[in-house]
Amino acid sequence: MFSYRHAFHAGNHADVLKHTVLIALLRHLTRKPTPLTVIDTHAGAGLYRLDGDYAGTSGEAQDGVFKLFSALAPAGEAAGAIEDIAPAVQDYLDLVAGLNPDGLLRIYPGSPFVAQQFLRAEARDKLKLFELHPTDSKSLAANVAQLQAGRQISVARQDGFEALKALLPPPSRRALVLIDPSYEIKSDYAKVSACLQDSLKRFATGTYAIWYPLIPRPEAHELPRRLKTVANQAGKPWLHASLAIGQREDKQPEPGEVRRPGLAASGMFVVNPPHTLKPALAAALPQLLAVLGRGRGQAQALESAG
Ligand code: SAM
Repeated sequence: MFSYRHAFHAGNHADVLKHTVLIALLRHLTRKPTPLTVIDTHAGAGLYRLDGDYAGTSGEAQDGVFKLFSALAPAGEAAGAIEDIAPAVQDYLDLVAGLNPDGLLRIYPGSPFVAQQFLRAEARDKLKLFELHPTDSKSLAANVAQLQAGRQISVARQDGFEALKALLPPPSRRALVLIDPSYEIKSDYAKVSACLQDSLKRFATGTYAIWYPLIPRPEAHELPRRLKTVANQAGKPWLHASLAIGQREDKQPEPGEVRRPGLAASGMFVVNPPHTLKPALAAALPQLLAVLGRGRGQAQALESAG
């Protein structure tokens, strides 16, 4: 049932979009001194090796985090091509660089380790992680154990959609929920919109961030429309950001070479976004596209309501 392993995709353009949005959300939400609960319903393994077998086999990070670093990090070849790096992009670069202190990109932080960077001990923030895959949940637990974060971070091998119900509303009445399934099973699309609808009933003022792939299948195109309907019916503001890097247009395949087109576009849908998110992404998305865009169909879009 579970063949999806995020290690193949870690640091790709979809992670760049997702984690840039996540960082911008966390930066805002940790400004207030009241405790914040961060819930990651589909957490993955937490940390990934960019020089390991999985990443090497897929090469997806080359069109994501590596490209961004070589264009924008201080020693980058094209440094200066974008004069003022948008703060949200700079935050993303800084966070990834912080985990790679020797300057070589070897480690990529998944969403649990992105969130962990923002947790404040003094504010009693909490991070609740759910991961169902047996191997990835073990890796996640081992990676988190190294942080010695005690009860601030919890890891459970549970269905994140189900587990979320028992956590809303959180005692502090402030929460950021990341819903990031693999959409390996078609029913994930319907589960995501049902989950948002249910969660808004339980806790109407939480911030919900949902990632989805923009792929040629009706459920994927329908999902943002459904999410807008759910948010509108609940009377909640929303923001929708998407990034399409376009189809590969490099050399022709060698005879016998099998080309997998790979994911070319994805989106983030945020309900109850902080007011700072839209301007942050309005500055960041064109820069992400300028660096990561690779061919036909490249585009970025930002829309919001409420
Ligand atoms: N959020 C991670 C990040 O940004 O680094 C990536 C998560 S990956 C896209 C989706 C993960 O969800 C996979 O590791 C998969 O094993 C896990 N998964 C699939 N169904 C699940 C479920 N019902 N509950 C919890 N985890 C699930």
